[in-house]
Amino acid sequence: MDEDKARKLHLDTIAVGYGYDPAGGQGAAKPPLYLTSTFVYPSAEHAKETHRIFFEGPRPGEVVEPSYIYMRLGHPNLDMVEKRLAALDGAEAAAGFCSGMAAISTVFMAHLKPGDAVLHGLPFYGGADGLLNRVMAGFGVRGFHFTDGLDGEAMREAAERAMAAGPLRLIWLESPANPTATVIDIGLAVRIAGEIAERQGVRPLVCVDNTFLGPLLQSPLACGADLCMTSLTKYCGGHSDLLAGGVSGSLELVGPLRALRTLLGTTMDPQTAWLLLRSLETLSVRTARACESALKIARYLKAHPKVAGVTFIGLAEPGSREHDLMQRQTRGTGSTFSFRIQGGEAGAFRFLNALKLLRLAVSLGGSETLICHPASTTHYAIARDRLAEAGVTEATLRLSVGLEHPDDLIADLTQALDQV
Ligand SMILES: *Cc1c(COP(=O)(O)O)cnc(C)c1O
Repeated sequence: MDEDKARKLHLDTIAVGYGYDPAGGQGAAKPPLYLTSTFVYPSAEHAKETHRIFFEGPRPGEVVEPSYIYMRLGHPNLDMVEKRLAALDGAEAAAGFCSGMAAISTVFMAHLKPGDAVLHGLPFYGGADGLLNRVMAGFGVRGFHFTDGLDGEAMREAAERAMAAGPLRLIWLESPANPTATVIDIGLAVRIAGEIAERQGVRPLVCVDNTFLGPLLQSPLACGADLCMTSLTKYCGGHSDLLAGGVSGSLELVGPLRALRTLLGTTMDPQTAWLLLRSLETLSVRTARACESALKIARYLKAHPKVAGVTFIGLAEPGSREHDLMQRQTRGTGSTFSFRIQGGEAGAFRFLNALKLLRLAVSLGGSETLICHPASTTHYAIARDRLAEAGVTEATLRLSVGLEHPDDLIADLTQALDQV
């Protein structure tokens, strides 16, 4: 199947088989797993040619057969995942990494240098926050944030502060954001990136962390973003049994990531790539089921007297800013959201300890329903005033709805809420 044909197919169809041709796998219906760290060259000349193509790229018009060197530089299962992910994200190219954080680290290191400023929404993933505002800060990169991702003036005001510190090179948007599930208008941020370009002469890259919705429910590149990062550990992997990350975009922006990952050692391994190819096949049915159950559970929680509030685009009122954004930017609600419980940390802990079916664990997007208390777990290392600004309180819980029967989940929530 060539690329043009893939563009005309539904994403659900691409997710099933795109990127693997049985003709290249001795007719095997499913992709073979190429479990090898190194690849044998038929001749010394071929070895030199393979390295020339790896380091310099093909000559204009040169057609090259896939050839491999060493697992960290690339391997057949990685090629398959990257083709499928690029097609799903509507991108020219994609790069696979050994975790979402490996992908984020590689993007930051490839596209930022000392003196640069980064604009980001708050909250965002605790690991990305730590990497940017603690580690990258040590290399002279500074982060600036806004909290209302639907308010252009708030974004522009934060962009002003960023530009005053150095060239604003990267706008990092996580929508919906971890852990609260608040949303950001990607198109609005892209327009602001254009305004910034006129002011400072260089356009900041707009990169979206698409982990919460994944490629089937949100296409950041179609909204004008330059790069789309996804923690494939979550919904794409879907079974809480692997760690992986992917970045999609133009070859011009993805190429440097591929080059850098071979030096950082952040490449995705064959076993993980193989598992992902398998998991992506069921992404659309898993997504549909989880979204439906999440909506049911969110409605139940919202009506419960011991729940102080639910943050979920699935519950956005028609006419609200969130609802308008959802219509423009997403094809579904996702199934991870947050809610606040009466009684602060003590109430939240009593509730968590009483749950029998829902599992108390970090991570999200797996087949099983997971719940966690972000302030004491995923966002433990984030300063308290910063968390408060991000809208994460001692009473906030993050729920990732899985594939169990929703009535069983609601029954468990009911008995645990009775004990708060
Ligand atoms: C989990 C997560 C990441 C990090 O991905 P890993 O695969 O765990 O490294 C990044 N962003 C978001 C929104 C996440 O939920």
